[in-house]
Parts: sequence; structure tokens; C-alpha cells
Amino acid sequence: MRLSRAFLPTLKETPAEAQIASHRLMLRAGLIRQTSAGIYAWLPLGQRVLRKVAEIVRQEQDRAGAQEILMPTIQSADLWKESGRYDDYGKEMLRIRDRGDREMLYGPTNEEMVTDIFKSYAKSYRDLPRNLYHIQWKFRDEIRPRFGVMRGREFLMKDAYSFDLDAASARESYRRMFRAYLRTFARMGLKAIPMQADTGPIGGDLSHEFIILAETGESVVYLHKDLLEFDVLSADPDGTGDPSPVVDFWTSRYAATDEKHDEAAWDAIPADSQVTARGIEVGHIFYFGTKYSGAMGLRVSGPDGTPVTPEMGSYGIGVSRLVAAIIEAGHDDDGIIWPDAVAPYPLAILNLKPGDAGTDNLAERLYAGMGGDAVLDDRPERAGAKFADADLIGYPWQAIIGPRGAANGIVELKRRATGERVELSLDDALARIRATT
Ligand code: ATP
Ligand code: MG
Repeated sequence: MRLSRAFLPTLKETPAEAQIASHRLMLRAGLIRQTSAGIYAWLPLGQRVLRKVAEIVRQEQDRAGAQEILMPTIQSADLWKESGRYDDYGKEMLRIRDRGDREMLYGPTNEEMVTDIFKSYAKSYRDLPRNLYHIQWKFRDEIRPRFGVMRGREFLMKDAYSFDLDAASARESYRRMFRAYLRTFARMGLKAIPMQADTGPIGGDLSHEFIILAETGESVVYLHKDLLEFDVLSADPDGTGDPSPVVDFWTSRYAATDEKHDEAAWDAIPADSQVTARGIEVGHIFYFGTKYSGAMGLRVSGPDGTPVTPEMGSYGIGVSRLVAAIIEAGHDDDGIIWPDAVAPYPLAILNLKPGDAGTDNLAERLYAGMGGDAVLDDRPERAGAKFADADLIGYPWQAIIGPRGAANGIVELKRRATGERVELSLDDALARIRATT
């Protein structure tokens, strides 16, 4: 993308309404634009990050054997009356009437709808186990939307739903998702820790929240420090096969949210291993048994012909919240520091003297060498403004091209995360960048 033709609006001033770093930086770097309270438009850079985050989520769901569908945002109230949640949900649910005066709603979650869809096809135990997921916008009319997309009213969620023949199989499905979650967040450069959590209105007895430690997080959490030091991807490089060893490690050490905190278990941990912190909930998984399948009449015939009510679980990831959480976990005074896996572009090419034959030529060759997957700052701006914007937006690499280096075919490559700078030939610069993408 050539900046001279791009829609990448950045702000110099810090927006007054933004209380936390990620919200400030998302506005300043031009990732999002608020359109109503808690509702945001995603601008080009933000949209690219959101897509990359969603794609990692998708790959790990697929790897775990879940299948992607796409359910609508608008649902009929009838489904929610069947499960009994229509009244329970209260004011967080946006209720709508269509022209025929039928009660509709903008879905805050999809347990009812997916159960209804699955019910239409599943007839026997051979149709189990199955896991269906989608990545879709949700609406919850939060009392206090705040911190930008961290707690929005409209937000993008991945939600998966598992259907199993019995409790043992359902727990197995739960463990597969548990492992998929660890891998998903690790691939985004995040340490998300699974913690025993309350099931809340969704019901059930087994639940974990995946939490990223951050001072600005809304949850208070308690954990054993071993969990902070564990490297998920090297412990589980291909993410298939039996998830038990991975899950067993994580559940063998204490980690709980405030609501589930157990003083006796906590006191049994040596004081120098206790970590109390605040955190951001980026995922939440539940095993809730037959709550929805029972209420909505989902039944299949079992191996011996008798009817069975499938056991279900649901598994959410806050895709749009993750973008903010990644920034909360990676920024400095100058701006965002994107992990390579989700950066809007891997590289910004800063042509310090557009119009100079040497810098133009080298910048264009580098841009072509990246196959166009870079931002080319060809604006007639001061060098200082280019540096500031590149640091603010947080591209993992910057290639600084000035007339003196260009005359010798030299690019100055800067790593945003460390500030390290090296002078390299074009080919060596490309190789360095490719090694991280
Ligand atoms: P919270 O406790 O933060 O209100 P929740 O428990 O109501 O979240 P779930 O129903 O478990 O949320 O939804 C799955 C995931 O969706 C959450 O783990 C979170 O990452 C994300 N999420 C929930 N509410 C919001 C919101 N208002 N804005 C952005 N993301 C959200
Ligand atoms: Mg939750």
C-alpha cells in the first residue's frame, strides 16, 4: 500500500475519551472510529489486523476438528422462549420487531440457534460428536461500554458448540477446545492463562476463562507462577492427537478468577509462587450438559435404540477484543508493537526523499520484493513525521531509505520491538524480514 494513496488517518492528539492505552492507540493509529456508544467502524489497518486475528482463530478451530458455519445476526425470539432465556437475558438483549410485528433480536450468543439447526439433521449417535463454530458480530447492550472495542456493544466473536453422546465424550470435546485456545492465543504472541471460572447464566459445571494479565484488565485473578513460564507451542507443536497431557499440565496448577477463588487451595501454594493480578478475558469455554438440548428437544437414537439427549458445550473467543488486548500487551510510549503474526503489514518502507531517483528506485524494489505486502511511505512529509507514524502504527519492521544509503544500495532496517537497527543490502533485508513472517 502506497501511503500517498492510502486511507490511513492518524491523529496527533490523544483523544480525551480514551482511558487505556489500547483504546488511545487504536484511535490514534487510525484502526477504528466510533460511530455510536460502544459501536465502531474498522478502518483499513484495523480491519487487516481483525482479519488476521480471525484467521488464526479459524485455523486452530479447524485443526481441532470443528467446522465453520455462518449463522445470522438476527434471530427469532421464539427460539429463546423455548430455552427460557428470552426473559432472563434482560436489557442486554437488543429486541427488534419486524414489519409483521414479530419479535426478533440481534443475537448476543447462539446456543439456541445452533441447537435448533443441529436438531433438524442429527438423528442417531452416528451424527455425534460434532463441533460447529462461526465468527460473527454479536450485540449486547452493555450498561457501561468502555475501553473502545475491549467492551463494546457490537463485537466480533468466535463461538463454537459441541454435541456429544455422553459426558465422557463431551469432556473430551472440551479438552480439544481447551488445547486449541492455548495454541490460538500463543500464536498471537499472547500468554493467555486458563482459569477456573463461573459458568454464569449459561449454566453447567465446568468452565474456564482464558485471561491475559494486564493492569487495565477488568478481572482479578489468582494463579501459580509456573503457568506464566510455560511455552505452549513448543510443548504442543502440531496441536493434534491426545490433548490430555497439555490440559493436565494447565489444570494441575492453581488459577482462578475472583468468583471461583478458593482460599484454602491458595494457602497451600508457597508464597513465592503466588501471583495475584488483573487480567483481560479473551476467551471463555463451558461444558453445560443438556441444558439447551434438553429444553429444545434435541434427541438422537443411541447405539441400543433408546433416545439420548446430547451433551453440549460452548466456546467463545472475543475476536475484536483480542485486537485491543494484543495492544495492551504490546506497546510503548511511541505506539503499538505488533506481534509479527497479526501486524497489519510486516514492513513500512520509509522513503525519506520521494522524488530522488536513488531512494525512489530502492524503495520501489523493496516494495516489489515484498509482493506489495508492505506500506510504502512515499508522502512528501518530513522524515520525523514518517518515523513517528511508523512507530505509532507499530509495523514490526521499518526500512529507512535515505539518499546516502540508496546511493550504495543500502537499507537501514529497524526492528520496532527492540529498536535494533542494521544496515543491509536489499536482498539481505528481505531475507531478514521473511524469516519472521
Ligand atoms: P465479560 O465477562 O467480559 O462480560 P462474558 O463472560 O459475558 O464477557 P462470553 O459470553 O463468555 O462473555 O463471550 C465470549 C467472549 O466474548 C468473552 O470471553 C470476551 O472475550 C468476548 N466479549 C464478551 N463481551 C464482550 C464485549 N462487550 N465486547 C467485546 N468482547 C466481548
Ligand atoms: Mg465470560
